[in-house]
Amino acid sequence: MISFKAYRLRLIDWMSTMEIEESVKIGLEVHVQLTSLKSKLFCSCPSDYRGREPNTLVCPVCLGLPGALPVLNERAVKFAVMAALALNCKISEKMIFFRKNYYYPDLPKNFQITQYDRAGGVPLAVDGYIYIESQGQSKKIRIGRVHLEEDPGRLIHIGSIDQSPYTLVDYNRSGVALLEVVTEPDIGSPKEARLFLQKLRNILEHLGIFDGSLEGSMRCDANISLAGGTRVEVKNITSFKEVERALSFEIIRQKGLIEKGIAVKRETRHWDEVRRVTISLRTKEEEQDYRYFPEPDLVPVVISREFIEEVKVEMPELPDERVERFMRMYGLPKYDAEVLVSSKHLADFFEECVKLYSKPKEISNWMMSDLLRYLYENNLELYESKLTPQIFVEMIRLIDEGVISGKIAKKILPVIIVSGKNPRKIVEEEELVKISDESLLAELADKVFSENPKAVKDALREEKAVHYLIGQLMKITKGKADPELTNEIVKRKLEEIKRTMRNIN
Ligand code: ZN
Ligand code: MN
Repeated sequence: MISFKAYRLRLIDWMSTMEIEESVKIGLEVHVQLTSLKSKLFCSCPSDYRGREPNTLVCPVCLGLPGALPVLNERAVKFAVMAALALNCKISEKMIFFRKNYYYPDLPKNFQITQYDRAGGVPLAVDGYIYIESQGQSKKIRIGRVHLEEDPGRLIHIGSIDQSPYTLVDYNRSGVALLEVVTEPDIGSPKEARLFLQKLRNILEHLGIFDGSLEGSMRCDANISLAGGTRVEVKNITSFKEVERALSFEIIRQKGLIEKGIAVKRETRHWDEVRRVTISLRTKEEEQDYRYFPEPDLVPVVISREFIEEVKVEMPELPDERVERFMRMYGLPKYDAEVLVSSKHLADFFEECVKLYSKPKEISNWMMSDLLRYLYENNLELYESKLTPQIFVEMIRLIDEGVISGKIAKKILPVIIVSGKNPRKIVEEEELVKISDESLLAELADKVFSENPKAVKDALREEKAVHYLIGQLMKITKGKADPELTNEIVKRKLEEIKRTMRNIN
């Protein structure tokens, strides 16, 4: 018997794997920290706040003390322009910062310095797009705007937000540079939302301006409506692993209401990742409630053509270009190249391996099959594992040197992924060296033959039964028998039996 809670969590997991039909419209508002910056957006406080004592990386500017004045971080502008170019956006000649006014404990100034696309506001960039691969097809997702803004402080709850007895606030994050990327409602399912975020992350990581492996570095809010109905905003989705779950939950919730004839309310809901439900936060506020107006402490920023050209020259290789290069340089099929370049970590790992051992096809095959399957099944990212290019390549070398069989390698792989242990050591300690001693294998084959007379009889007539005998030999050697040699010996023995039978007849 499983508990109700466990049952519900399983149900939500199951729902998030479902394909959802076309009536769903999802638009994302993604907040990405420019984690490669050393300092915050408007002051020189360090922006690397993770694991630091709360409220120690602060100054009058990011605490919003009276009289403190913001100074724009030029590198942040450069990074943002880079991102906008990679997202195929039109970059504004002049951008203006705005104040978005609201009160919240994570925002001590009572306003956030951001950008606005109305009331004379000009965001950094507009009208972009990227492509995602969805259901075997390239799908264009339009990007409405990209802009720069400051991150608020961090509120910490004990467990679930609506059950936490109190809230703690840490202002170390206050003022960290955020890139806000807003899509048009072109996303048609929770799965596409995840694919979009993965692609966005991949592009930004290739630009070297962002590290998605850092907790909370990519967060998103989603607007979601069913069959042209009321839009509901879901806030606090903290990773692309969560996005599918949160949106699936919300779709099921809205469908349930519609089926019962209850109107979907226009509201803002909070994704509670502990309980895996969305809960109502407030009925949706209107934009005018924020009283946006130009930030009087910052001058408009002119983005010159020369500046954009300079950034273009420095642009690193983007994922789509890398796919092309992988096909050209390593002779990989398009599909394989796309899988390997689907994340920067994976692509870097592959290239590191090839540098150590120039067998790209073999390395790619092992990565695409067993390695990725293991990571997927265990919901693990490559960088979360202990696997290094050195030990991965060492495993492939052991196969090529004939020390272990592919079968043994498949057994070693999960061990080295989890432990980071040198596979050569494992082979020595566990005596996994491939048995390629012909006389020993022949002896073992004799044993298998005498213990399985019926199978031998069948094997004389049909191919399938031969594999059974080979399988038995593999079984008694715990997979250590050299597969080619075993094959040869078993077949040779069968031939011998056939010959003797003919002679007797
Ligand atoms: Zn500061
Ligand atoms: Mn924002």
